[in-house]
Amino acid sequence: ACSGCITSAETVMLEKQSLDEFISNIDKGKAVIVSVSPQSRASLAVHFGLTPLQVLRKLTTLFKTLGVKAVFDTSCSRDITLIESCNEFLRRYKENKSSGADSLPVLASACPGWICYAEKTLGSFILPYISTVKSPQQTMGAVVKHHLAKLMDLRVDEVYHVSVMPCYDKKLEAVRDDFSFQFDSPRDASEVVTLTEVDSVLTSGEVLDLIQLKEVDFKGLEESQLDTLMTNVDQHGNLYGVCGSSGGYAETIFRYAAKELFNLDVKGPLDFKIIRNADLQEVTLDVDGKIVLKFALCYGFRNLQNVVRKIKSGKCDYDFVEVMACPSGCLNGGGQIKPGAGQTAKDLIQVLETIYMEKVYVADPFENPRVRKLYEEWLEQPGSKKAKKYMHTEYHPIVKSITSELHNW
Ligand code: SF4
Repeated sequence: ACSGCITSAETVMLEKQSLDEFISNIDKGKAVIVSVSPQSRASLAVHFGLTPLQVLRKLTTLFKTLGVKAVFDTSCSRDITLIESCNEFLRRYKENKSSGADSLPVLASACPGWICYAEKTLGSFILPYISTVKSPQQTMGAVVKHHLAKLMDLRVDEVYHVSVMPCYDKKLEAVRDDFSFQFDSPRDASEVVTLTEVDSVLTSGEVLDLIQLKEVDFKGLEESQLDTLMTNVDQHGNLYGVCGSSGGYAETIFRYAAKELFNLDVKGPLDFKIIRNADLQEVTLDVDGKIVLKFALCYGFRNLQNVVRKIKSGKCDYDFVEVMACPSGCLNGGGQIKPGAGQTAKDLIQVLETIYMEKVYVADPFENPRVRKLYEEWLEQPGSKKAKKYMHTEYHPIVKSITSELHNW
């Protein structure tokens, strides 16, 4: 989805994120950890005619047979992202209302296609509006490398962390400098090693390639126990998470803000109204006949450009916008498995939307026991110094080099 240019350094790092590299790191004896996105398990579920839970169990069998140490679920780290986003929204909303700060709208930050476009094409005016919270992929990366590695008694430079995503732009996200950190080599005190939170991203389609490459009868695979350490599964073995094909940001923050700011419990599904097309929807909260919250879902570049134009001209009255570069959001990402014979892209997205939520129970991220434990033993409070250090990031306007505009420089 990213329309910006990719630098040669990025190209080299992207080439490293392949199936060959994944298998060679297992062969090298690295402690390989795989984190699977809910959109990818839905894509595989549709392809194989299975449920998302069956897919996650069978993927666990497949990866562990290959030598992977643990398989996690990015719905779990997404809950940290949502909690931090709720906290950030409240702060920025209050700043705006109390002192007129130009802190709204908050624009979601989970889509690297959008971030790349904002940095490379829109530049500095838009960046302060973007939420500083990392995406679920990168929050999982931070949890694995900065916390779980220690709990699992692994040295962080021995861990190779792979995420399975619906999207090629997630590969670009993983190689951002903001998501790398320094580690003192235990072999040589003078040597400092640079490590990344996520070492490699495989798309849903590339996992299907792996299944075919290894000639695995995926449907016939045994269903393993899930690694519950970072997976949204309850004691009865059911998956849980929030709704929304791209993570449910607008929905979760809206309910949270209604409760915290206006003491209102918003029950039942939110009343999103379609504006112009299904990829631009709005929901409002009225108090005493006055609109106090106005949120939007904004998917696809055309809608995104309209919202950006409104922000630039000071005419945007949204408080929060869930921005996603792909029409229909992440279920329709470029890394998903392609439609089958005789199936249109539109048919596929409809099936995906149904399967995505099949037997996945809606749950409040603040009640997630694994995430609560992470705050208790590590992150302290939402928005704490530690949470800011590990779960937030920053953005940089990218000035195109003048050489790109000079022939044969
Ligand atoms: Fe990737 Fe598309 Fe989702 Fe953005 S909307 S994160 S580009 S799949």
